[in-house]
Amino acid sequence: MAKVYNFSAGPAVLPHEVLATAQAELLDWHGSGMSVMEMSHRGKEFMEIIHDAEQDLRELLQIPAGYKVLFMQGGASQQFCMVPLNLAPADGVIDVLDTGHWSRLAVKEAKRYTSVNVVASSADRHYATVPAVDTWQCRADAAYFHYTSNETIGGLQYSAIPDTGSVPLVCDMSSDFLSREIDVSKFGLIYAGAQKNIGPSGLTVVIVREDLLGRAQPQTPTMLNYQVHADADSMYNTPATYPIYIAGLVFKWLKTQGGIKGMAARNEEKAGLLYHAIDSSNGFYYSHIDAPYRSKMNVVFRLKDEVLEEQFLSEAKKNGLVQLKGHRSVGGMRASIYNAMPIEGVKALVHFMLDFARQHG
Ligand SMILES: *Cc1c(COP(=O)(O)O)cnc(C)c1O
Repeated sequence: MAKVYNFSAGPAVLPHEVLATAQAELLDWHGSGMSVMEMSHRGKEFMEIIHDAEQDLRELLQIPAGYKVLFMQGGASQQFCMVPLNLAPADGVIDVLDTGHWSRLAVKEAKRYTSVNVVASSADRHYATVPAVDTWQCRADAAYFHYTSNETIGGLQYSAIPDTGSVPLVCDMSSDFLSREIDVSKFGLIYAGAQKNIGPSGLTVVIVREDLLGRAQPQTPTMLNYQVHADADSMYNTPATYPIYIAGLVFKWLKTQGGIKGMAARNEEKAGLLYHAIDSSNGFYYSHIDAPYRSKMNVVFRLKDEVLEEQFLSEAKKNGLVQLKGHRSVGGMRASIYNAMPIEGVKALVHFMLDFARQHG
């Protein structure tokens, strides 16, 4: 088998141990004689799988009582309509912090269902920074405040948790979920598509404070109503059973890695290695993001000499370093270094970058 380090932004690398377990259990899960893919979602085997996945997630994030964990479908993109439909009245207003591509899409969709107040935007700085908190124009009557903790495409991360007082805080945590410790009690709702840091695509994890349920706008489709999914323990209809199983294996794997705390320390180290290589390259490589907001998950960088970018990518690939091309809207390079990217992968990339700069600098 070809050994590569996969820096894809999503669907992304999964822990090798998880894939090996899935392979060993593929045909016969724990002596059941069935593959997880073949099981009834209401059978006792799968009920055990989903129950364990939820308990492990609760343990990892220390999710307080009073919060529901939902295993949904439709990707994080579906949350862009579900959140306003469920949490905001049609004649109300929501606050949104605009930090780039994904927060803009959240705004665009929310506008179909309620009014949107963009509290601040760094569009004029090409999303290289986050506007200072004291410039934010928040509304006291906002139904909620939405932000994106990690802009996967731009490579910008906002790791502080905004203090919104009594206004419920909603976060699209798709690409830094489980990468660092967070205090769940500060949030009204957190959502994350699985394919970045949780498991395969097809699953979205939602953590929602129970008092926010039951407020959906009257026209909300049944399938888009959090209350419906909460009441049915994510079993209103057939959930994404196999992705939930793999996510459960990832949660167990995280527990063997020192939990979120252990993971966060490793993520700091990995991002540190990469940004150090960029910053010490005498401008051969550069990051356009203000240092405090550089993402520890998606390291976006460019070459001073853009002509070399194609060659960089093709030689990286020859060295087993794949999926480094930046998003088409940003260009350049993007190294996604989620939890499952081993530090050896980052070291291999740094080694390659130094070599490439030496040859072409
Ligand atoms: C990937 C991503 C999305 C979209 O996820 P889908 O599952 O493709 O809908 C939304 N927000 C962020 C921050 C993402 O990284």
